Amino acid sequence: MSDAILEIKNLKTYFKTRKGLNPAVDGISFNIEAGKITALVGESGSGKSMTAMSILGLVPQPAGKIMPESEIWFEDQDLTKLSERTLAKIRGNEISMIFQEPMTSLNPVYTIGKQLMEPLRIHQKMSKADARALALKYLEMVRVPDPERRMSSYPHQLSGGLRQRVMIAMAMVCKPKVIIADEPTTALDVTIQAQILKLLKDVQEQLNTAILFITHDLGVVAELCDDVCVMYAGQIVEKATVEMLFENPSHPYTAGLLKSLPRVDDDVDMLYSIEGMVPNLINIPEGCRFASRCPKAMEKCREKEPPKVMIETGHEVHCWLYE
Ligand code: SF4
Repeated sequence: MSDAILEIKNLKTYFKTRKGLNPAVDGISFNIEAGKITALVGESGSGKSMTAMSILGLVPQPAGKIMPESEIWFEDQDLTKLSERTLAKIRGNEISMIFQEPMTSLNPVYTIGKQLMEPLRIHQKMSKADARALALKYLEMVRVPDPERRMSSYPHQLSGGLRQRVMIAMAMVCKPKVIIADEPTTALDVTIQAQILKLLKDVQEQLNTAILFITHDLGVVAELCDDVCVMYAGQIVEKATVEMLFENPSHPYTAGLLKSLPRVDDDVDMLYSIEGMVPNLINIPEGCRFASRCPKAMEKCREKEPPKVMIETGHEVHCWLYE
């Protein structure tokens, strides 16, 4: 039986542009399981952040639209069919988000304490004293030094690393069932990055939260995640557990991404990079979207959309090589 807490089925998020329809997310399906960290990996423009926005009901309007055949199931409710009012109650309370740049979600004119307490007061109707006590507990949990004093600090008075810790505390404070973390450490330097990732994992394990972790970095996926979906040009091209993916990377795009990871035992002057560019989604080529960059492309790859093949239990690849 699946422990899926969030089931994404045939999600399509399209944008109307002056040049035509852009299918930024084009028919993806995957599950996020309770207590696990699921990675969504891909280059920029692959559709990963738009997937997150779709789950949260934050697709930019009026240009963007979740197509009617899409389904996002969370606790017996299809989020794509809910009113904005109902979605707003779920957002921040049961599904919360950690962004790459904390200043995009921390309000510069309110203290950290007020911002941590507000969701508890609004969503959980807590008294001021209880909300304050819990906010302090979470600042301690994410190891913010001198939390009492930090409660009355403003975001600009904190370093980037501390702001990201506060963001994690804010995302966790209502004990959400799902957290979506969109490249949460990209803006930080490497040492702080490692500390924040460890912290995220520790807190996730303590609270048994499910995390959807969005990243372009397979190195981070190996360290942190349980399951992984590789996205390319709006589609999922490979889906597996992290162990399966690293032992047996099967889609040529995944293999290329892994090859381009720096390794300590390699003595090379230049890192490998996948040649070419992600195709323009407004004019999607026939057949496989990766064909123009794929070293294994065959004639039929350019003619027909590849099939989705289960190459072992729990390991799915979208490619003609496994037909
Ligand atoms: Fe390469 Fe063909 Fe597989 Fe696409 S379907 S990834 S072009 S081998």
